Parts: sequence; structure tokens; C-alpha cells
Amino acid sequence: MNPPEILYMVVPCYNEQEVLRETAQQLKAKYSSLISQGLISPESRIVFVNDGSADQTWGIISELHAKEPNYFSGIDLAHNSGHQNAVLAGLMTVKDICDMCITMDADLQDDINTIDEMVKKYYEGNQVVYGVRSARDTDTFFKKTTAEGFYKFMKIMGADVVYNHADFRLMSKRVLQELSGFKEVNLFLRGMVPLIGFQNCKVYYERHERAAGESKYPLKRMLSFAVNGITSFSTKPLKLITALGLIMSVVSFFAFIWAFITKITGFTEHGWSSTICSIWLIGGLQLFCLGIIGEYIGKIYAEVKQRPRYIIAEFLSDTNKKEEK
Ligand code: UDP
Ligand code: MG
Repeated sequence: MNPPEILYMVVPCYNEQEVLRETAQQLKAKYSSLISQGLISPESRIVFVNDGSADQTWGIISELHAKEPNYFSGIDLAHNSGHQNAVLAGLMTVKDICDMCITMDADLQDDINTIDEMVKKYYEGNQVVYGVRSARDTDTFFKKTTAEGFYKFMKIMGADVVYNHADFRLMSKRVLQELSGFKEVNLFLRGMVPLIGFQNCKVYYERHERAAGESKYPLKRMLSFAVNGITSFSTKPLKLITALGLIMSVVSFFAFIWAFITKITGFTEHGWSSTICSIWLIGGLQLFCLGIIGEYIGKIYAEVKQRPRYIIAEFLSDTNKKEEK
């Protein structure tokens, strides 16, 4: 049998002081068990990425690393860069030192026991293993409806994502190398990973409630995440605008005929309501369509500037220190 391979976990953390120690303890227990079963190498590490937290998060990560450097590593970002960028910072840091990597949120909503199955699927030859939620019983009705609506809407809008899969997934070193070739600034990892391809599969798990602390994704942030996902992966909204313009032209052609007929038959005084309504309707539609086009122009603007997607202030790692010597 081949020697066990190196598994790195990348866990983005933004103001997670309430839950971090518990998460670290549970992940450590999982690692010990996987190492003793010979499923992963003792060189495997858990990497917490501090995404510019304002609380004690980085202090806790440094402490965990100081006490048990053979389990915990830490990346400190220079400022809050957002969940997707924090995950990418972790992935790009570990891509040369791991064989496989799992990304997971810090709040224990994703089931840690799924990790065993993910690793086994990796040994079976899968380069990507998607964690998919089998049930959403613990989510509030509101979160459940908006989240499921999000996946459906994404599909209609032409962005192909794995249904009910968030960012809990295993990726092989090879996939990480390929991911490093995607230079886009508007990150949407769950749209990007399926584009990479390779053999992949899904594992199902039940999503728990947040173990402690509060969600960092209020409705406003979730909506902008959805808009970003769609506009980063599909130009379908632009095509819909063209279709809408075409339909409006056909409708106005018939309206023109109707107006002409009423004019020659002499019923022209009653026109105020219909005139004012169509002005509002067309005005609203035009602004809406301009907004969508503007959204894409904003995207292009952000892309052409090519600013760094994250800045790493510090990387705490025992393997890193060995390399420096
Ligand atoms: N997160 C982050 N940067 C941010 C916001 C969130 O790194 O700017 C992390 C957060 O610490 C958590 C994960 O992203 O580990 C998912 O966030 P959260 O659990 O709040 O989202 P929800 O599960 O409610 O959608
Ligand atoms: Mg969460």
C-alpha cells in the first residue's frame, strides 16, 4: 500500500472567537483518528485563515499554532478580503505542500465526519469531492427558501453550480495547481471548480446549526453574493435584455397601429393614462437594463485593474520554518 497522503484543511475565519477553539478541538480529534487509521500522513495540517477579524480570532490561531504546531497552522490576511478570497489565500498557500485539501467553514455547520468519506473518495481516484447538503432542517424557513431559490435562479441565469453545495469540498493538488491559473478578481469558487473538470463525485451530509457566534452573511451580503455569482459566470442577463428590447419593439409596433387607428377614428382624448403608464414602464425598464449592463462594466473595471485578491501578512507553519532553514 502507498504511504498515506498529506491532507490540509483550509478554514476561513472572520470574527470567530466564540467557536474557534471548539472547531480546532474537533478537527484535531478527527485528524488524530485519520492519522492512526493510516488514512492521512502525520504531516497533514489544519490551516486557519484569519480574514482581518476585529476580535481575538488571530490571537487564538497563534496560540493554537504555538501549542500544537504539528496540527495547526495560521494565515493572517492584512485586511478583511471576504470569504471567497480568504479561502483562495489558504488554497494558494498550501497548493505546493499538500496532496489534497478540504475547505470548510469555521462554524461547524459542515459535518466533520464527512471528511473520512471525502478522503476515501479521493483515494478511489476522485480529484474533486463536493460536500452536498442532504437536508436543510436546521436552517430557518427564510434561509432555506432564499438559499434554495439561489441555486435555482443561478441555473436559470446560466451559471452552472452543484445544487446545494457550498464551499465544503476536497480538491487534489492537481486541481489546486489548475485553480491557480484562474486569475479573476471576482471570485466565485463554486462556479470555478466545476469548470476545472477531472473525475469528481458528491458526498451527502446534514448541515448543522452554527455552533456559536453569528452568521456573517446577512441578506444584503447574500444578495450581492448571488448577483456576483451570476454576473461572473454568465452573460445570460445581457441576452435577456436584448430579448426584452425585441419584445418591447414588437409590442410598440402594434401599439403604434392601435394609436394610428384611434387617431383616424377620432378617439384621441383618452390617451393620458396609457401615455403616462408607458413612459413609466419604459423608463423603469431602461434603468433596470442599464443597471445590469453597468454591473458587467463594473466587473470589467475590477478585472482590468488586476489588484491582488488578498495580501498575506503572516504565515505560521512548522513546515514553513523547516523550509526556511
Ligand atoms: N468569513 C470570512 N470572511 C468574511 C465573512 C465570512 O472568512 O468576510 C467566513 C466565516 O468566518 C465562516 C465562513 O466564512 O467560516 C462562512 O460564513 P458564515 O458561517 O457566517 O456564513 P453562513 O454559513 O451563515 O452562510
Ligand atoms: Mg455558517
